[in-house]
Amino acid sequence: MRKAALALLAVSLSMCFGLPLQRAENVTTPQAPQAPWATQMTTAMPGALPSSSDTNLVKSNGLTAQAPASDEWGPVTADVNDSDEFFQKAIRTTGPQRDNASRIEALLKRMTLEDKVGQMTQLQIGMVSTGHDQDIRIDPAKLEKAVVRYGVGSILNVSDQALTVDRWHDIIRQIQEVATKKTKLGIPVIYGIDSIHGANYVQGATLFPQEIGMAATWNPELMRRAAEITASETRAAGIPWSFSPVLDIGRQPLWPRFWETFGEDPYLAKVMGVAFVRGLEGSDVSSQDHVAASLKHYMGYSFPLTGRDRTPAWIPENYLREYFLPTFDAAVKAGAHTVMINSGEINGVPGHINHHILTDILRDELGFKGFVVSDWEDIKKLVNIWRVAPTEKEATRMAVMAGIDMSMVPSDYSFSDNLIALVKEGAVPQSRIDEAVRRILKVKFELGLFENPMPDASLKSKVGLPESRKASLQAARESMTLLKNSDNLLPLSKNRKVLVTGPTADSLISLNNGWTYVWQGSEESLYPKDRPTIRRAIAAKIGEANVTYVPGTRITLPAGSTSNNTPTDKEEEVDIAAAVAAARNADVVVLCLGEGSYTETPGNITDLNLGEPQLKLAEAIEATGKPVVIVLVEGRPRIINRIADRAGAILMAYNPGNEGGTAVADVLFGDFNPGGKLPFTYPRTPNGLITYDHKPFETEDTAFGNMAFKPQFEFGDGLSYTTFAYSDLRLSQKTIGESDELSVSVKVTNSGRRAGKEVALLYVSDLVASLSPANKRLKRFAKVYLEPGQSRTLTFKLRRDDLSFIGSGNKPIVEPGEFDVLIGGLREKFALK
Ligand code: BGC
Repeated sequence: MRKAALALLAVSLSMCFGLPLQRAENVTTPQAPQAPWATQMTTAMPGALPSSSDTNLVKSNGLTAQAPASDEWGPVTADVNDSDEFFQKAIRTTGPQRDNASRIEALLKRMTLEDKVGQMTQLQIGMVSTGHDQDIRIDPAKLEKAVVRYGVGSILNVSDQALTVDRWHDIIRQIQEVATKKTKLGIPVIYGIDSIHGANYVQGATLFPQEIGMAATWNPELMRRAAEITASETRAAGIPWSFSPVLDIGRQPLWPRFWETFGEDPYLAKVMGVAFVRGLEGSDVSSQDHVAASLKHYMGYSFPLTGRDRTPAWIPENYLREYFLPTFDAAVKAGAHTVMINSGEINGVPGHINHHILTDILRDELGFKGFVVSDWEDIKKLVNIWRVAPTEKEATRMAVMAGIDMSMVPSDYSFSDNLIALVKEGAVPQSRIDEAVRRILKVKFELGLFENPMPDASLKSKVGLPESRKASLQAARESMTLLKNSDNLLPLSKNRKVLVTGPTADSLISLNNGWTYVWQGSEESLYPKDRPTIRRAIAAKIGEANVTYVPGTRITLPAGSTSNNTPTDKEEEVDIAAAVAAARNADVVVLCLGEGSYTETPGNITDLNLGEPQLKLAEAIEATGKPVVIVLVEGRPRIINRIADRAGAILMAYNPGNEGGTAVADVLFGDFNPGGKLPFTYPRTPNGLITYDHKPFETEDTAFGNMAFKPQFEFGDGLSYTTFAYSDLRLSQKTIGESDELSVSVKVTNSGRRAGKEVALLYVSDLVASLSPANKRLKRFAKVYLEPGQSRTLTFKLRRDDLSFIGSGNKPIVEPGEFDVLIGGLREKFALK
């Protein structure tokens, strides 16, 4: 029993026994001694910026602020001139192709059926350990049973929570000692972990914004660097394999894993996904700085009809290929070593038995050479959840024959026992077993595990380096997406009285969300004490005396629940009246709203509206007439139409990680000029779930004003403290033929008074097609830094395949006709012969 079952148990226990809830802090202008981060953030911390220059005044509504003469943009400074240039280079940079075939064959010859099936088995750490939390210890008898008797090839996960590097070394060393010295063949175990936004199960590791925030940076170079740091810190713990990146497409905002995606657009997700793979795997995955990636969850997992995790999706094959396959296709081309399978079902076929997807497409079409791992317990679920197999043995046969190479069983030996029996009975051919084991051994060889199975003590110093923290701060800052700024309310002056309120104002849990130290991200005690929340970062920046903090409402764990397994999602009012009174005495209110922490099935919701206590708080604060800045700290777009219009400014922070508090404060007070762009369409109403690439007819008003496409914010929205002007959109030809390239250039000018980074988005609109075309589709982007007055001409090359779509025959087709190119509000037409 893990995860969801435990969560439910805990909630119901607390309800039955009426356990009291902890009181949240209700602080007004705390006089506490200076917190450790206060000095750190203004001196040693990379967020400390040069002081303001009075030559760069930014006009605001009475809260006039000064923009700094220059910003510190972070360690990753190169412009992304053309997303395609980055992409092509990233997929080509795959590592040295060592040929281990003869070593693999030699090993295979010596393996018994039991040895081989052992390699295909993955167990969770509890199967070889005892104890919980930090007290977890390897149990030698259990380890002997798993690795010697059953020859288990892989172990995964944490028992409950993130461990120190030393503890990891101890665990991995003991496992590898048994695997390499006490077994006949000495095959090392491949340990796998969910390094989702940094090495989040290694204490002291650098945590980055979750993928949705990384997408908002539109900076694949920064994504690559973040993944490189993640890889290095994961490998430093002795772990060579990460279950990331998530390449699902976020087109269903209710889905509780929305924030694990790069948003709704397949092109952006493909570029960022390849950047993630390149960062994890480098150009030589055997190096002690890199780990094998696992592309997940192949494919279509993110689009359940109801929005609930692991419930049915209906996706016809042409749309599966159009929207959900491109990220995986690209990441396979980039050389990723493993793939994890969709835990749900599509069109009635559970991912784990879908031979067409797992073998015809993944192997025969995409040419994937690594191994495929199941998701958690998913062979068992074929029996008790999906009911496509009468017994676990039959489920095992179906999954292995469909293309599963390794089963994340993970809590018993059923898979091994069943598979051995199936082979002996002739129900699974020996050749299929050999094929799976070859793939697994190939990855182990390529990772260098045969040469270096043991953790390397000298790598310990790589975890949590100051420059890694700088990169994380840069990522958090670049993700900040300014969605509204009426009358230039932002940036705020540093000498104003600020009320900080709302349930996410003082929460590192909200800044990080799930997969942080524990599965659900909910264990407060594990968060680093020296990282400021938004409230703390604001106080460090403008002085405690200028800040009043009143929570107003809070989001907590349900009372009595186990933090490891329970989402932080209980909302309640604390002191709305006190917040309103404090607002009256403030010059401006920073209202931090959003969500707690959750992932997977426990994060299911039935209502996309922001929690009622928060809406009530916001309405009460707005009624005071004070200028209000809403900061959204959330993993999916919770509906805010009741409060958006009266807010002066709205800043989308997503889940920016442990440097997120600093990043928010930097943007609010003008020490960083925001440049993030929304990687999804922010709906205005719970049922208004339409993506930017909707069909043209979907924008039509069919119900007298009710139905037109009118999101709260559009895909690609994001303001800056400067302005950018687009001009001179030019196409190399007006008509192109079969083999021509179309060159598109446009001039971008920083027409404002402050340096900034601009993301340029190039869309193509196919005007007439045999399948109703999308309104527009993203094809390229660039991200460039411009000083005030500076101009740059961006040039992109479009190829024929950029004009193709998946036709009704499930194959890409290109149809002659007219197309529009759209960029920065400009539009030009061309024709394809
Ligand atoms: C999740 C995967 C994850 C695996 C291992 C599953 O429940 O769906 O994303 O990699 O657990 O923790």
